[in-house]
Amino acid sequence: MAAIRNLFLVPLAFALGVAGQSQPPPKYDLLLRGGHVIDARNKISAVRDVAIAGGKIAAIDARLDPADALKTVDVSGLYVTPGLVDIHAHTYTGTGERASYAGDNSVSPDGFTFRVGVTTVADAGCAGWRNFEDFKQRIIDRSKTRILAFINIVGNGMRGGAYEQDLSDMEAQPTADMARKYPGLIIGVKTAHYNGPEWAPVERAVEAGTMANIPVMVDFGANKPERPLADLVTKKLRPGDIYTHMYSGLRGELDPSGHVNAGMIEGRKRGVIFDVGHGGGSFLWRVAVPAIKQGFTPDSISTDLHIGSMNTGMKDMLNVMDKFLAMGLSLDDVIAQSTWHPAREIKQDGLGHLSIGATADVAVLRVEQGHFGLVDMNGARMDATQRLMCELTVKDGKVVYDLNGISRPDWQTLPAGYGPIGDGRWDGLNPARGTTPGTQRGRGAAPAAAPTRGGR
Ligand SMILES: [Zn+2]
Repeated sequence: MAAIRNLFLVPLAFALGVAGQSQPPPKYDLLLRGGHVIDARNKISAVRDVAIAGGKIAAIDARLDPADALKTVDVSGLYVTPGLVDIHAHTYTGTGERASYAGDNSVSPDGFTFRVGVTTVADAGCAGWRNFEDFKQRIIDRSKTRILAFINIVGNGMRGGAYEQDLSDMEAQPTADMARKYPGLIIGVKTAHYNGPEWAPVERAVEAGTMANIPVMVDFGANKPERPLADLVTKKLRPGDIYTHMYSGLRGELDPSGHVNAGMIEGRKRGVIFDVGHGGGSFLWRVAVPAIKQGFTPDSISTDLHIGSMNTGMKDMLNVMDKFLAMGLSLDDVIAQSTWHPAREIKQDGLGHLSIGATADVAVLRVEQGHFGLVDMNGARMDATQRLMCELTVKDGKVVYDLNGISRPDWQTLPAGYGPIGDGRWDGLNPARGTTPGTQRGRGAAPAAAPTRGGR
C-alpha cells in the first residue's frame, strides 16, 4: 500500500508545488522486493531486497523497508540478476549495404535486448577504424541498449568477402588509435571470417589489442591446417583473449574421438577465454553435449545475434541460456556466464553485478516449467523442461521492459481519465510528464500510452 500511496502522492505534490514541505523524498527510487538474487561477483544466491537510487544500486539486504522507496515492485518467486551482458551481437544496421554486417545483416539492438533481460551488448566487430564513428553516431549514440564494441582489425569492418579477406586493410596502428580514442566504448579487437592460411589477421589483432590494452575476440574463419586451433589458443592468443564459437565444431573443437581438443584445454589453463557465440552456424548439440559432459563449460554465453540467427535455433539470449540449463548447468552458473563473467572479460568491472554503487542494470527472470524444445544450428532439437522468461528489465535504475505489468497499478484503481502515472525516477516507459528530469510539465498534452500487458 505504501508504494501505491507514494506513486500518487509524489507527482501530485510536485504538481501543487508543495514538494518537500511535508516529508523528505524517499531514500530509494525503486525497490525490488522478495526476489531470489543471483550475483556471481558478490557470491549471492539468496532471497534479497534490492534498492535503487539515482540509477545506482543503493542497498541489498534480506529486508528493506518499502516506506523508504518511491516505488516498490513485488518480485517474489522470481530471480533478480544483473542486467544480462551479451558480448557477441551484430548491430551496425541502417547503412543500406546489402549482405553486410555493416548493413543489412545486423539488427537494431533495442528490438532484441530489454525483452530478454539484456542491458549491454558488445558489437562483435561490425565496424573497423574506417567506419567505427559512423557506427557510433548511427547506432551506438541513438540506442537505449548500452552498446560497446569490438573494433574489427579490418579497417572496413564486416562489409563482406572482398573486404574481410583484404590483408592490406588489417592494420594494427589505426585500429589501436581508434580504440584509444574511445576507451570504455571500444572494449576489444575482433578478427573474423578469414579464409586464408595466414596468421596475419590474428597477429595484427593481438598487436592492436596489446597497444590499446584490450582483449581480442577471434572468429577463426575457415579451418586451415596451416593455422590449427590448438596453436591459436596455446601460442597466438594472450591470456584474456576470447575464442568465440566454442561449440561450432567447425575448426576441430572436438577431436575425431569425440574429446575436447587438447589445445583448448591447454589454452584454458593459459587463461584464454571460451565464449559461446551461438549464431546461425556456431552451435551443435553433438559438440556441446560431449564437451559439457567432459567439463568444458563456457566462460561466457553470448548470442551472435544477427538476421541469420534471430529466427533460427538461436532466437535470443534467454534461449541460448536455456540450452545450458538443459545440458545440466546450474542456474547460478548460467547467470554468472551471462553477467559477471562477460563483463569481466571485456574489463567492464562496473557491469554485471549488483554491488552497492554499481550501475542499476537489473533483469527479473522467471523459470517456467513445462515441455519446451531447443534447436541447434543444424535444426536438431533437444527437449527441455524449463525455460527462462524475462518479467522486468531495469537499465540505469529505470524500468525499460515489463512483460506483465508487475510495476503497474490495476487500471480500475486509477482515477477516471488517468494519464501517464509513472515517475521518471524509476519509470523509463510511461513517466508522468514533468517528473522526468529535464522535461516540462504539460498536463493532458498527450494521450495516455496503453500499458504493456504481457501475454504469451
Ligand atoms: Zn558474429
